[in-house]
Amino acid sequence: MKANLQQEFLNKYNTRATAAYFSPGRVNLIGEHIDYNGGLVMPCAITFGTFLLVAPNKDGVFRFKSLNFNEEAEVSLNDEHKKSGEVWYNYPLGVISYFENEGKELQGLDMLFYGDIPIGSGLSSSASIEVVTSYALNDLFNGGYDKLSLVKLSQNVENKFIGVSCGIMDQFAVAFGEKNKALKLDCNTLDYEAVDSNLGDYVLAIINTNKPRKLAESKYNERVQECQTALAALQQELDIKFLCDIDTQTFNQHKHLITDSIVQQRAQHVIEENDRVKLAAKALSENNLAEFGQLMYASHDSLRDLYEVSGKELDAVVEYAKTNTDVAGARMTGAGFGGCAIALVKGNAFDKFSQDVTAYYTDKVGYAPSVYSSLIGDGVGVLNEPVKS
Ligand code: ADP
Ligand code: MG
Repeated sequence: MKANLQQEFLNKYNTRATAAYFSPGRVNLIGEHIDYNGGLVMPCAITFGTFLLVAPNKDGVFRFKSLNFNEEAEVSLNDEHKKSGEVWYNYPLGVISYFENEGKELQGLDMLFYGDIPIGSGLSSSASIEVVTSYALNDLFNGGYDKLSLVKLSQNVENKFIGVSCGIMDQFAVAFGEKNKALKLDCNTLDYEAVDSNLGDYVLAIINTNKPRKLAESKYNERVQECQTALAALQQELDIKFLCDIDTQTFNQHKHLITDSIVQQRAQHVIEENDRVKLAAKALSENNLAEFGQLMYASHDSLRDLYEVSGKELDAVVEYAKTNTDVAGARMTGAGFGGCAIALVKGNAFDKFSQDVTAYYTDKVGYAPSVYSSLIGDGVGVLNEPVKS
């Protein structure tokens, strides 16, 4: 963490922060394009995240500052709180507005945010800032919410206040994440299992393609639509609510019902990927990183060939990874078309991996990626002695 956050707080607000909180970002280890198909995903919290330092004030205002953005704001406690344009502080403002609409009593608060997650790269800095804010408000003003309620209200802020229709996985992962555990989560029922995920001498490499995200949203909606078409076709014979209600074997017996070959391909990815999550959870919990790595590669290949949501940038990372014997596995993570890939890399070989993947990628793509080393970290919480100057 940035060592001088308390000093930054003091410079800005002329007083010391009275409390500090941290919420991580997340990666999805496996289980991609599954959340809207009623299946299993397996995200984990990473060791990058968002810090929030606070001090209550008697001025009846909320003050927002982030070290990641230039705009600052001061908003009266009594005003009606509405989204304004595209500024970053809509995120904490949305959380405040939610608490107020629920009749929670708030007081004025000076806030300083700082995130070391690459922002806008698919590592969910948005869920991180939502959850850190809702966790802090709940703690400071006795909101009375349990963690799952904080997850749901944070998602609600992103959906309704910000206007981004995301599922619940991101907020769930950053809130419930645990060190060295992956979360095998059913996005539909919210049943989850914290799977032992000791990476041993491996680290989680995160490779940001640095590709500007453009097509992602329209293609995403197209895939959601294709899955609905596939489901409707299968429902002619099967009594199911979601594609992931069946396994690969059952799918193979009924796939002829899906007449469009592209739509059939999409469904095949979803159903096989859901089965892969179960195998991956087992492999991880048995410390079988070699097997887990192979499942990562299989996931990537399926996303590239069957679901067609990869791209030359994400493919370049995985192509390189397959040539490096210090890598157990790699795949794109998130919705695709850009964003990040992840790789399981031997810790002592990370620096070389970072250099070599950068060279390979730059040669193929024409610009450099950013490469980070992470571990599986804890979810949102209060920092005990976080804010030394
Ligand atoms: P992602 O969630 O993939 O990082 P999003 O576009 O969903 O990308 O969310 C990024 C937005 O979240 C930023 O543009 C900003 O508005 C807000 N945000 C995230 N982290 C911070 C931060 N540390 N300080 C201020 N705003 C932040
Ligand atoms: Mg986001």
